[in-house]
Amino acid sequence: MRRIAIVGAGQAGLQLALGLRAEGYEVTVVSARTAEEIRAGRVLSTQVMFGPALALERAAGLRLWDEQAPRIDGLDLRFAAGPGTPPLSFSASFDGAAQSVDQRLKMAGWLELFEERGGRVEHRAVAADGLGPLAAEYDLTLVAAGRGALAEVFTRDDRHSPFEAPQRTLACVYLHGVTAADEQPDGMGPRMRVLATPEAGECIVMPALTLSGPCDILLWEAAPGGPYDCWQDRPGAEAVMERSLELMRTYAPWEYERFAAAKPTDAQATLFGSVVPTVRHPVAEVGPGSYVLGMADTVVVNDPVAGQGANNAAHCAASYLRSVLDHGEQPFDRPWMQHAFAAFWERARHASAFSNLLLAPPEHVGRALDAASRHPEVAHRLANVYVDPSDAPEWIMDADRTAAYLAAVGQP
Ligand SMILES: Cc1cc2nc3c(=O)[nH]c(=O)nc-3n(C[C@H](O)[C@H](O)[C@H](O)COP(=O)(O)OP(=O)(O)OC[C@H]3O[C@@H](n4cnc5c(N)ncnc54)[C@H](O)[C@@H]3O)c2cc1C
Repeated sequence: MRRIAIVGAGQAGLQLALGLRAEGYEVTVVSARTAEEIRAGRVLSTQVMFGPALALERAAGLRLWDEQAPRIDGLDLRFAAGPGTPPLSFSASFDGAAQSVDQRLKMAGWLELFEERGGRVEHRAVAADGLGPLAAEYDLTLVAAGRGALAEVFTRDDRHSPFEAPQRTLACVYLHGVTAADEQPDGMGPRMRVLATPEAGECIVMPALTLSGPCDILLWEAAPGGPYDCWQDRPGAEAVMERSLELMRTYAPWEYERFAAAKPTDAQATLFGSVVPTVRHPVAEVGPGSYVLGMADTVVVNDPVAGQGANNAAHCAASYLRSVLDHGEQPFDRPWMQHAFAAFWERARHASAFSNLLLAPPEHVGRALDAASRHPEVAHRLANVYVDPSDAPEWIMDADRTAAYLAAVGQP
């Protein structure tokens, strides 16, 4: 049986590892952290996963928290030109509920499950010069180590990497005690709530499941230099809450009351950082004629403004699994690696393009938002670009197509 090594125990690495084990492959996961360390560590993401990614997990028998995790039925989006300006807004359902399960819970659980199912785990951090020996030992070595230092072994692909610097600084906190948003007349349940304000960035709220049960996550996507960009001192969880309330009082007063009594879920419930959206060449030579293949964030990392990264990781794992199975006993050589990435990129390119569009929305996106605030069909289509970004080029990536679509639905 063929032997496969995967560096990294995140969404991409573990989903693929479990998929390969189910098919009888001999799989080793090299993880910088143990399950206990992941569970006891800092939050990792806001990890909203949409219907198609959840369906992949469900088909693989990996939805271990389906019963406990709150549904996210749709999107509430508000766009305000500035504080005090009445926002444009719409609510629309997703095609299939989304969910967010704290990656501390999920990855720790999957890592233990992988071992229970006969997978081998090595607990160590792999350095760049450790990839050559791994590639020599295994039939195939994949790097699913996220956007950290190991990603640097893959060279940047300038064609698809429009930014040299982060477009947002990020601060997030997991909270208990946030009051539920108002019911929708059509009975739609909890939604992801996004407030977008030019100059400031986005304030995003989503229901989730964490270690201590259902919670809400608050994510500030701060435009650099704008009023949300106030997290450089990386304050403690209580201070994040206080500062968030001050921001909400000015920028999102309708959220303020809901958050007034909220408390951080645990001492590790905050995350700060930033992402330079980057696409890398997916294959790296780690010894003479010896190659490794990058997965998910290691080779395609997006700003989380559109919530695409964990979804991408799930699609990457499913796509690479198919490519491995289809390849049978043939060698996992460089052309196969390029081919496997190309199949994943077919979807991932849309997720990157849509995420990048939201970071610097051109004028026609404003027109689409305006139409969505008045026309439920436009609202529904816009919400579902988050679910399936391959719809974006059909109508929202360029001004002419947006104009044509809006004219067709009577919203020129
Ligand atoms: C604030 C924030 C909010 C987000 N919100 C969302 C969202 O709502 N929806 C969404 O879809 N995406 C979201 N994302 C993105 C999402 O979290 C990532 O895209 C996704 O987790 C990537 O999965 P991955 O498996 O590629 O990498 P990771 O999840 O980063 O996993 C990498 C793993 O590799 C391990 N590792 C790293 N280096 C080494 C090494 N040298 N040796 C061994 N192991 C190593 C790490 O410990 C980790 O276990 C968000 C990201 C951020 C920062």
